[in-house]
Amino acid sequence: MIIDTHCHLNTTEFDVDLHDVIMRANTNGVEKIICIGMYKEANLKALDIIERYDQVYATIGIHPSYVSESYDETLFIEQLKQKKVVAIGEIGIDLYWVKDNLDLQIELFKKQLDLSLKLNLPVIIHLRNSAQEIYDVLKTYQGLKGVMHCFSEDIIWAQKFMDLGFYIGIGGPVTFKKNLVTKTLVKEMPLDRLLVETDSPYLAPSPHRGKRNEPAYTKLVVEEIAALRGLTSEEIALITTENAHRLFNFGGNK
Ligand SMILES: [Zn+2]
Repeated sequence: MIIDTHCHLNTTEFDVDLHDVIMRANTNGVEKIICIGMYKEANLKALDIIERYDQVYATIGIHPSYVSESYDETLFIEQLKQKKVVAIGEIGIDLYWVKDNLDLQIELFKKQLDLSLKLNLPVIIHLRNSAQEIYDVLKTYQGLKGVMHCFSEDIIWAQKFMDLGFYIGIGGPVTFKKNLVTKTLVKEMPLDRLLVETDSPYLAPSPHRGKRNEPAYTKLVVEEIAALRGLTSEEIALITTENAHRLFNFGGNK
């Protein structure tokens, strides 16, 4: 059994066939799905989906691209305390789309990191063109736990984040033929820090590249990692599922 540790079932891309998508994940061995929050509306939608589907869990957070949204910490804490909310995220710094608001992004990022320590919840980190900036913030904290989601930097950066206690999330791009950076990372990194994800509806793995991604395709990510490591898919599924349970503690005591 596999866990898709990062997907956005709460986007309009899944409005029409959400039920079928979740059932298809099931028949492809995906036993749990974590639906990731990004902004106020998406957070609410994630909370609605976890009410309806036992196998779906949620995270609540404000993504750096939504830095201008109002930040209501009281509401936030209330949502984060719900039993099936397993992390804060996705949060971080994104210097791909907008570069001139770094201070605001860091401020929002830190507020949510503080909350993660306060509530003892892991964080889902979004990193884009911002490895150094994120590292500089994270290293000022102690006791954080979380995952660097859909990690696309090299093994040297991965090691630095693992040294801070973070897991590394690997998704569809590992299946892309020319992505030697991620393939090398997956070959060399310790398996006890590895999580699998899809980031659906984005970043579909081969042979679905460019189309809508969905949680069922986590299986393709697991197969690629197994091939790279010379292990079976069952072994990779087992290890990454154990890792996900260790980090997210699904429905356990908060
Ligand atoms: Zn995401």
